[in-house]
Amino acid sequence: MNERDSEAVAAMLTRRGYVLADSEDEADVILLNTCSVRDLAEQKARGKMAMLARRKRRQPQLVLGYMGCMAQSRGAGLVEEQPAVDLVVGTQRFHHIPDYLDQLFRERAAAAEQYDRQLRAIVDVAEEVGSESAVREHLVVEHGDRKVTAFVSIMQGCDMHCTFCIVPFTRGAERSRPIREIVEEVRELVARGVKEVTLLGQIVTSFGRKTMPKKDGKSPFVQLLEAVHEVPGLERIRFTSPHPKGFGDDLVEAYRRLPKLCPHAHLPVQSGSDRILRRMKRGYSRAWYCRVVEKLRAARPGIAISTDIIVGFPGETDEDFEETVSLMEQVDFDQAFIFKYSPRRDTPAAAWPDDVSQGEKERRNQVLLQYLNRRMAAKNAALIGGVIEVLVEGRSDKGPRRMFGRSPTNKIVVVEGAEGLVGHIVPIRVERATATTLYGYVMGEGGDEFLG
Ligand code: SAH
Repeated sequence: MNERDSEAVAAMLTRRGYVLADSEDEADVILLNTCSVRDLAEQKARGKMAMLARRKRRQPQLVLGYMGCMAQSRGAGLVEEQPAVDLVVGTQRFHHIPDYLDQLFRERAAAAEQYDRQLRAIVDVAEEVGSESAVREHLVVEHGDRKVTAFVSIMQGCDMHCTFCIVPFTRGAERSRPIREIVEEVRELVARGVKEVTLLGQIVTSFGRKTMPKKDGKSPFVQLLEAVHEVPGLERIRFTSPHPKGFGDDLVEAYRRLPKLCPHAHLPVQSGSDRILRRMKRGYSRAWYCRVVEKLRAARPGIAISTDIIVGFPGETDEDFEETVSLMEQVDFDQAFIFKYSPRRDTPAAAWPDDVSQGEKERRNQVLLQYLNRRMAAKNAALIGGVIEVLVEGRSDKGPRRMFGRSPTNKIVVVEGAEGLVGHIVPIRVERATATTLYGYVMGEGGDEFLG
């Protein structure tokens, strides 16, 4: 989400006449797009800004800003804490950044003439009706490469209020863009060479539920998937983040019916213990969750299932944790993101004792990571010798004449070959595998041509 928001701001600035710097050292303006979902993310952003503030002492004309979730929730407090900051822009106001930068440069020019004038930072964390449609501009070329995949923002905000989660406070209430506007954006991207889109939102499965009716038992999100699926030339559709509750039979059936919808579902489970799931207010039980996984696997054999897990939620006992371990064994996830619980301000759980020690959180984290790594390595090893369809996205950093792309199930694949492969879906024979990456070469006729 932040990557997409940053890209849209960069595209707006480019249109306004600003130029993307090749490196941070050359930049005159540096905006940090921030995440608040865990404390660590905030600490990293602050640390980075402190480093930039030191550089600003040598280079006083440098413009520094915060955007995104931490900007939204801390606002002017960030400027008080770090006076080197010139700009703080919240999650509903990204599209005003070009105006604010112009304003900052105008004020500086004026201040240079009457040098005693006090320059103030610009802070804007207001809500804005319609801001869900403001993130729409794309960069055609990124890092010198033509873009093959693109993120498309379809909605903002979340109304779920899980007890651990700050997102409803930083991203606001659920607001969705109209289907035709999204389809139009996808068409334009495809016309520029994009082959795969990832539909984005804080809770995409809730897309349109407050404003659009169901049709033939299909939720607005499934209606959107169908509409995007119709776009000629588009090859692959992904989406993130969904909520498991959003995987009704209509969405499960969409995996059966819509071939462009990639065989991958990210289903953030958070915990394997029903007691903890209730305290988190996730709205489902372990058994219900496992049933959804079964239905998905029946609808689309070979579908990859990934998840998010929090360890050390307030009150999580050894028994609760063992339930999460057993859930991991039961579901056998293809990928998982495991987080140590961190209290977030304003959330209900922040008022409860954070009673699992840091050491114990770390231990639980390691138990799950090690299990996951073993399973991922084994699953990838089983693919050696087989052939998978890879959409080649660009040059790999794993050496010259190597490209990278992804399998339909979202595995990273490094491919021997030249740039002519970029933008093509090619059959790849898997030669070698690690827990996180597959390596292979292009199969059959045409392969030589690409290799050449
Ligand atoms: N909207 C998504 C979550 C996005 S945040 C959903 O509802 O599933 C990504 C992940 O960060 C979450 O799935 C959760 O596992 C983790 N996370 C969120 N809040 C957290 C917190 N307070 N401490 C630790 N991890 C957290």
